[in-house]
Amino acid sequence: MLRTLCLAAFLTAIAHAKIIVAVSVAPQAWLVENIGGDAVEIVVASPPNASAHTFEPKPAQMAKLSKASAYLACGVEFEKIWLKRFEQNAPDMRVFYVDRGVEKLTLTPLSYDRSAAANRRGAIDTHIWFSAAAMRSQAGYTIEALIAVDPANETLYRQNGARTIAKIDALRQELAEKLKPYNDRAFLIHHPALGYFAAEYGLRQLFIEFENKEPKIGELAALTKLAKEEKIKVVFVERGASPKAAQSLASALGAKTEQITIISDDWESLMRDAADALIKAFNGGD
Ligand SMILES: [Zn+2]
Repeated sequence: MLRTLCLAAFLTAIAHAKIIVAVSVAPQAWLVENIGGDAVEIVVASPPNASAHTFEPKPAQMAKLSKASAYLACGVEFEKIWLKRFEQNAPDMRVFYVDRGVEKLTLTPLSYDRSAAANRRGAIDTHIWFSAAAMRSQAGYTIEALIAVDPANETLYRQNGARTIAKIDALRQELAEKLKPYNDRAFLIHHPALGYFAAEYGLRQLFIEFENKEPKIGELAALTKLAKEEKIKVVFVERGASPKAAQSLASALGAKTEQITIISDDWESLMRDAADALIKAFNGGD
């Protein structure tokens, strides 16, 4: 009798065991949580406040990653270096490239100086979480990935997935309506994280830093001139940073610096807060 009970308990535990799903960046955790619900435990490879571009995983993270059933890659820079090691470290883990339906934008250095830009190579913009359309595309591949590693929960993943896609679409519509009056307006940000957001909602992103480097003096002068023409009143700085170039540009413009969150696992708030911050800036920053 005891044996039967133990076996039953064991089988129940198996049936309810969560699969571990690893993602590269925090906004993907929002997707996996919405789609996977209680069936999934999430590991975010890059810690919440770390740059998504460069990072070194800690031993504890590697240990957690080693138990993952799936890794959902989204095209951020560190995957090129680390994904192979993650795979060697986790023999049962399958890798899915959930960004493969996303049309990537190119970040052109000095987008404000076309002649300089023409002479330099653009870089792929990896901040795809700032587009609802890109999130929708990633949602589709995320649903299929979860089903591939955990087919028993297919119905759950499809139902949650449909609900998640509806949420993404609703948010996109909400933001499009909110930002409509500001069509073609320019904003200025230190780290160029909002390129996809700008493209999706008809705005223009001016940025200071390129490939984690500050601009040269001549470039900064060109940017200052353009920012004046665009009547920039706010210089956005990624939360937690206080780069000198942003401070000096702000004082040259008589503008203020304002912190903005550029990565978070609360994706809906991330998008709404960005829209609200930009609207406030377009209205003079007060
Ligand atoms: Zn970035």
